[in-house]
Amino acid sequence: MAVNIDWNNLGFDYLKTNVNIRYSFHNGQWSDMVVTDDEYIHMHMSTMCLHYGIEAFEGLKAFRGVDGKVRLFRVDENAKRLKASAEKLCMTPLPEDMFINAVIECVKRNIDFVPPYESGASLYIRPVIFSSKVTLGVHPGPDTDFIVFCSPVGPYFKGGMQAIKVMVDRFQDRAAPRGTGDIKAGGNYASSLLSGEKAVSMGYSNVMYLDAVERNYIEECGAANFFGIKGNTYVTPKSPSILPSITNKSLRAIAEDMGMTVEQRPVPVSELKEFDEAGACGTAAVISPIGMIFDVDTKEVVEYKAAPGPVSLALYNKLRDIQYGRAEDKFGWNTVVE
Ligand SMILES: *Cc1c(COP(=O)(O)O)cnc(C)c1O
Repeated sequence: MAVNIDWNNLGFDYLKTNVNIRYSFHNGQWSDMVVTDDEYIHMHMSTMCLHYGIEAFEGLKAFRGVDGKVRLFRVDENAKRLKASAEKLCMTPLPEDMFINAVIECVKRNIDFVPPYESGASLYIRPVIFSSKVTLGVHPGPDTDFIVFCSPVGPYFKGGMQAIKVMVDRFQDRAAPRGTGDIKAGGNYASSLLSGEKAVSMGYSNVMYLDAVERNYIEECGAANFFGIKGNTYVTPKSPSILPSITNKSLRAIAEDMGMTVEQRPVPVSELKEFDEAGACGTAAVISPIGMIFDVDTKEVVEYKAAPGPVSLALYNKLRDIQYGRAEDKFGWNTVVE
């Protein structure tokens, strides 16, 4: 099937593809895989996910490589993380193999929507899991629905990496240490939207969130993890309320492989000025180099001369090369979809 899409002008928006893939857990068991072209969910108005936010999601990408093959990046990691999210929110966790099969099926059935290699675009895959129990009280139940759909999306950076400006703001905490910050719950986004909008209105890309106890340690950079480069060391914050980014995990592996030291530890805001380079990392951009950080409370400004700096650029290129099949997949991260 020929798909009529202007590959070079894609943004990050929902575009209808052929089908989406579903599983549902009702009457004590998971259904068989359902393949449907229905974009809608028929849902009772008293379903738990709507009222109590019992919902979690994932995000990953498939890339058409230099050799024309389509590769999924670290899908097993997303399967594990969605399972952890479901468990923490008292949903029925989806077995990892079912998750992987659903994602592969989704890519296969929508293979014409994987953008051509030259476009730099990719296929974004969005798995979502939610409680489909119908009740009024807050009682978790086993009834759970899982859907995976996809949409072709444009490259995050059009015409080279661009530095972002971020704002340290203590006005809202993204997540608390014993809360849900370490899982991909939609509620974490909902509870940090307001400060995010404030940052955008002041001309910043997003907020640098600090820990909710002391407001002294760096947590996340918007909806991305943070890292700093100090000489030959890759430093990234450690905290129970940070979402374990698969991109960050991959960058740490690449950094170690390049002979760098990797430190995962609490990172105080005061350390920002000691870094040579800084960046936000996640599936969307891999790395967003940070050019400037403004602390809205102390009015302190930290600037990074090189954004992207040479180390960030090397890490970025290495990861991209693996995703697009230009470098050997020495860590076994890719799943080829045929
Ligand atoms: C998804 C997400 C990230 C990035 O994770 P990746 O697996 O690298 O895409 C970082 N922080 C938050 C809060 C997220 O939800």
